[in-house]
Amino acid sequence: MHVTGEHAAPPASFRPASRLERRLLAVLVLAAAVHAASTVLRTPGQEVLWADVLYALAYIGAGTLCVLRARRQRGQRWAWAALATGLFANCAGDIYYSLFFLNEATPAYPSPANWLWLAFYPATYLALVLFLRGTVKRFVVTMWLDALISALAVAAVAYAVAFEHLLDVSGGSIAVVLTNMAYPVGDLLLLVLVAVAAIFGGLVDRLWALLGLGFLSFAVADTWFAVQASTGRFLTGTPTESLWTLTAVLIAIAAVARPQEPTPPEARPWWHVMILPVVFASGSLALLVYGQDGAVPRVSVVLALASLVVGVVRANVNYWEATRLLETRQQALTDDLTGLRNRRGFILGLDSILREPGEDRPVAVLLIDLDRFKEINDALGHSVGDQLLTLVGPRMHACLREEDLLARLGGDEFAIALSSDADAKSAPAVAERIARALTTPFELDDITLHIGASIGIALCPDHGTDGPTLLQRADVAMYDAKGSGGGYRLYDPKRDSHSRDRLQTIEQLRAAITREELVVHYQPKVDLLSGQVPGVEALVRWRHPQRGLLLPEEFLPLAEQSGLMRPLTDHVLDTALAQLRTWRAHGWDLGVAVNVSASNLLDVALPLQVAAKLSEYGVPADRLSLEITETTIMADPVRARQVVKNLHDHGVLVSVDDFGTGYSSLAYLRHLAVRELKLDRDFVKDVCLDTRSSAIVRSTVDLAHSLGLHMVAEGVEDAESARKLTEYGCDIAQGHHYSRPVSAADLTEWLLDRHDDQPLPAAG
Ligand code: C2E
Ligand code: CA
Ligand code: CA
Repeated sequence: MHVTGEHAAPPASFRPASRLERRLLAVLVLAAAVHAASTVLRTPGQEVLWADVLYALAYIGAGTLCVLRARRQRGQRWAWAALATGLFANCAGDIYYSLFFLNEATPAYPSPANWLWLAFYPATYLALVLFLRGTVKRFVVTMWLDALISALAVAAVAYAVAFEHLLDVSGGSIAVVLTNMAYPVGDLLLLVLVAVAAIFGGLVDRLWALLGLGFLSFAVADTWFAVQASTGRFLTGTPTESLWTLTAVLIAIAAVARPQEPTPPEARPWWHVMILPVVFASGSLALLVYGQDGAVPRVSVVLALASLVVGVVRANVNYWEATRLLETRQQALTDDLTGLRNRRGFILGLDSILREPGEDRPVAVLLIDLDRFKEINDALGHSVGDQLLTLVGPRMHACLREEDLLARLGGDEFAIALSSDADAKSAPAVAERIARALTTPFELDDITLHIGASIGIALCPDHGTDGPTLLQRADVAMYDAKGSGGGYRLYDPKRDSHSRDRLQTIEQLRAAITREELVVHYQPKVDLLSGQVPGVEALVRWRHPQRGLLLPEEFLPLAEQSGLMRPLTDHVLDTALAQLRTWRAHGWDLGVAVNVSASNLLDVALPLQVAAKLSEYGVPADRLSLEITETTIMADPVRARQVVKNLHDHGVLVSVDDFGTGYSSLAYLRHLAVRELKLDRDFVKDVCLDTRSSAIVRSTVDLAHSLGLHMVAEGVEDAESARKLTEYGCDIAQGHHYSRPVSAADLTEWLLDRHDDQPLPAAG
């Protein structure tokens, strides 16, 4: 807890002492030494003027050095000036005394000399406060309380030791009593201030050590004087007097010394904060115990008690600060709406569970995301959404044990940490229970809501050993669950790496399209009756700089999901049409088939773009066919039909790819402007082995022909299948039996080789 003050920046502008100042200090020290020697040598009570001159020299010298220091250190100018004022005032008192009362048997008391001497106190207090202000930015309540405890305790002890005695003897005039008391009280306050500053300001540096010692010697001399005076044995010119000159010397040294860099509060030992109140409160207590039988004056008892009362107040302030700190901390960890922990609170709680001893203890993290919450929020308003969220917490809580952690991470996302052995092992069972609890309808004021939840589970230590990792993996599992329509899923590392690579791959793919890393391979289509090659199918590949040549299945789904299908198809179309132009320039009248995806087909701008490309590359429209799948069509049949019709109107051929694997009926195809059906490989591969397959192929061929469509068989891998397909009336075949998809150059080779025994495609 923060009870110390804060430091201001170290003194900004400081000039070191000049040679003159150091010389002045030497003179001053010499004068003080001679004065001290004289007090030892002289007969006590004998007052001589030259001794007073030495004394005055020490004080004026010290005051002058303080003034010079004030000029050298702008930041603490006023503090040093106040100190100088105190020293000069004190010295003025001495001069006054010397001038008017030297060797007088009964000097006036109190006299202006006393007022001048006493003026030393307010001036030095001011100086101390200013020093503190320059060093300690902020004073906290406990600091002042500590000062009060100390002052009361010191006053109690001091009163017991000296004051009562002083008052007894002086009796008489109020002025005399007050003057008598003023010195020790002034000194005590001075000492307490120095102690408080030293301890709480962390100011136990050279400056404060010197000032502290100076004030201490001043206080000792004063007390000595007071005690002597009260017993009527007071004599001037004793060695005690040199304690006063010592004060001037110490302050003068402080004024010349360089300031030290203050110690930052955090570097100070903890007991700095505690020592003052503890020492002084103990002192008060000791005094009370000692004074049980009336040995201590009542005023002291009251002061000691007061000191202890302040001590109790301070302890309470400490406690209050501690609880307030705890409260703000708790608020920072709690979700306002549900009163559950928030994300911060969850991570902290999870951390402490994971750090508990007994390492191998399993822990499960569940991430729960409500299904359909957004719908409810949008349709029924936020207040209903909020109401629902407050009901979800207690539902889940009922499925958990006392030691389990439940939190709302934000939005409709909740998290649970299962820490009891049985629960962590049976995390899926708990997830199941929660999922079931949440499917029970929620009864709000005037509405019944049905929601569900998707839950992801990550286990410690299997899937991670720290909070963030476990949460992240539970998140992956949760999305997995969401993707498969709710329920719960255990984290699966395979899927995670997939999802992490995903974003990276998307970015790479985006760049690959423009960087021409996408290449197009071609697979010939062969006319089964004539053996001619009417065209080729363009099939895209990705020449990945690290992963090698990637097949479409490895990147096409990604392209479709990330909106990259349009630039990709553009690229393939450009490449294929450019290649076709080259082949046609060789005199080979080939056609090219390009695959288009769902997003391409639903793009109403597609027909116009395709038409533009055809004229750009000088390729007749009927030499381009676009292959679409049944599922693509069924994604939005109305729109698909429109686009297909427009393509048809531009003279572009459309074929239905992977026929037989989707839901489209031949009846539906009747309304679609397509020219060709491509029977899926699944039916073709078994055409020689399986009577069911051969029956399907045969009937499909018949139906296609009855609709006026060409029939293409995909995936023809051997001559036997080719023969069977020819027998069944299939028009065109495509497959490894003829050629794998190969580069344009390789296909050119293949076409030339084939020319030896097969006729080339008919020219123009
Ligand atoms: P698809 O349109 O059905 O293309 C035929 C696939 O069958 C090609 O796979 C081809 O290599 C393969 N294949 C050809 N003959 C045989 C054979 O005898 N045996 C076997 N087992 N397979 C054979 P590929 O190149 O991996 O392409 C896969 C799919 O990716 C294509 O299926 C097509 O749907 C899609 N695709 C390829 N290129 C593009 C493109 O540029 N755009 C779009 N939208 N889709 C493309
Ligand atoms: Ca195809
Ligand atoms: Ca196909």
